[in-house]
Order: sequence, then structure tokens, then C-alpha cells
Amino acid sequence: MLIDLHTHTSASDGTDSPEGLVRRAALAGLSALSVTDHDTTSGLPAASAAGAECGLEMIRGCEISSATPYGEMHILGLWLPDPAPALESVLRKMRDGRRERNRGMVDRLKSLGLDISLADVESGARGSVGRPHIARALVAKGHVASINEAFRVYLGRGGRAWLPRTLPDPVTVIRLLADLGACVSLAHPFLMRCPESWLEEQVASFAGEGLTALEAWHSEHTEGQIRQCLALARRYGLCVSGGTDYHGENKPGLTLGRLRDGRPVPHEILDDLKTWRIRHGLSV
Ligand code: AMP
Ligand code: ZN
Ligand code: FE
Ligand code: FE
Repeated sequence: MLIDLHTHTSASDGTDSPEGLVRRAALAGLSALSVTDHDTTSGLPAASAAGAECGLEMIRGCEISSATPYGEMHILGLWLPDPAPALESVLRKMRDGRRERNRGMVDRLKSLGLDISLADVESGARGSVGRPHIARALVAKGHVASINEAFRVYLGRGGRAWLPRTLPDPVTVIRLLADLGACVSLAHPFLMRCPESWLEEQVASFAGEGLTALEAWHSEHTEGQIRQCLALARRYGLCVSGGTDYHGENKPGLTLGRLRDGRPVPHEILDDLKTWRIRHGLSV
């Protein structure tokens, strides 16, 4: 019984279409899946329809970026209601901000003498467009040999064409999602480059703001970091969530529902999250 509560599709910076991802998940033997695209829910209708066809339990999700003094903090909303106008208006503003930033980064690339346009970046993209799309356009035009090189030279933080993005603070995002009756999980906590004491202070304060869970199980977490997340969650009375952060060809080497060493994302986390929801009078 494999599950995956963190995946991306072509509605943001994944390469599988929403329906393609769901079919892939069904073939891989998953029983439940959440599509959690960055700053958009636009892939969810197609994913839900495909889930119904394949007999796969679908949990409506998204991953929202927020800003901290130590860089971006990503927050997952799971069991998003439909419709959710308050969420959609925030996400729309975030995508507008992405477009402005993408335009600015393309202008910087042009001023560095590279032939590239916003149309090149947005061609084939649907929904939430970001740096991976710019990276792919740079590869396609032969300006760099790989996505990695594109990030290293131009698009990574401090790179030659990098621009910051204006983002909400984490508490605003947590309250927004909690008020909607979603489960709110702090995504890949140990991918942030921050002192552990600061992270723990944040978790302690977020627990009082509506945070439900920590994403302990994640492809880029070490065994030690998974254990630390489990301990942190226990200390603050939080659930845990888990997923691969599958991005298709944009993040090679990942298999839906399994960590890098082949171990499954534990099914019990889904049962625990559902128990939490039922206890709080929320739908499952
Ligand atoms: P954006 O949302 O536009 O800021 O782009 C962030 C996305 O770029 C992340 O979700 C990652 O998937 C991807 N990314 C960040 N750094 C790298 C890198 N060095 N190589 C490949 N992809 C990256
Ligand atoms: Zn991504
Ligand atoms: Fe993330
Ligand atoms: Fe992600």
C-alpha cells in the first residue's frame, strides 16, 4: 500500500501531466496520492478525474512558498477544500509575482548576451512557471549543457541572472490553510539552511498557529533528519507527513511512493492524518 503526499506535475515544475502522474502512480501500486504543485491548484481537476478512473485515493494539495531570514520555507496544504476562493486569490498573486520575476530574470539573461525570451520560457508551461522552466529553455537553446549548470551559473541564489521573489511570511500561509480546514505540513524542514535551534523555535510557534504536521519522510532527508523530524513532531504534538517531491525529469532518480533507498513512505502517516482530521471534525 504505497502512498505519496508530495508530488509535482506540469501544472508547476514537474514534467508529467496531472493525469499522466496519476496513471504512473496507479501503475506503481500507490493507493493514495496528493498532487502538491507550487503555488497552484490548476492540476487538481485533471488529477482527480484520473484518480477516479484508476481507483486511486486523491488528496487535494498544493505547496506554497514563504519567506524567512534563512531563505524559502515551503508549506504543504493537504485536503484543500474545493472551491477555495481565499486560497485562489493568494495563489494568483503569487503567480503574478513569479511572472514579474521570470520577466526580470529573462531581461538579465538577455543583457548578458543570451538569446532567450519569456515566450521561450512559458512555451509548453501551464499553471505555475518558475526557474526550472527558464533552465529548460536555456538547455534547449544550447546556452548551458544541463539544468544544473543553468542553476549554478545563472538562476541559483546569487547567480548571474538571479532575482529574489516577494513572498508571504510562513504564519500567513499557515493561518490561511488552517482556516480552510486543510492539514498544514512544513515541507522538508531540514532542506532549509538554518540553525536547528531556530527551526525548533519556528515549529513551536507554528504549532500554535495551525500547523498540523512536519514532513519527516522526504527523498532528500537523511535517516538522521527523518528521526529528528519525528522527535520534533512528538515534542510539539504534531503529526508527520511524507512524500517523494517527485518532479519527473526535472528531478531524476525518484520513484513515486518510495524514498531513495527503496523504502516506502509509511502508510500509517495517512491513517494518522485522517484520525487527526476526524478528531477535529474535518472531512477525509
Ligand atoms: P522557483 O520556484 O522558480 O524559485 O524555482 C525553484 C525550483 O527550482 C525548486 O522547486 C527546485 O525544484 C528547482 N531547483 C532549485 N535549485 C535547483 C538546482 N540546483 N538544480 C535543479 N533544480 C533546482
Ligand atoms: Zn519544484
Ligand atoms: Fe519544496
Ligand atoms: Fe515540492
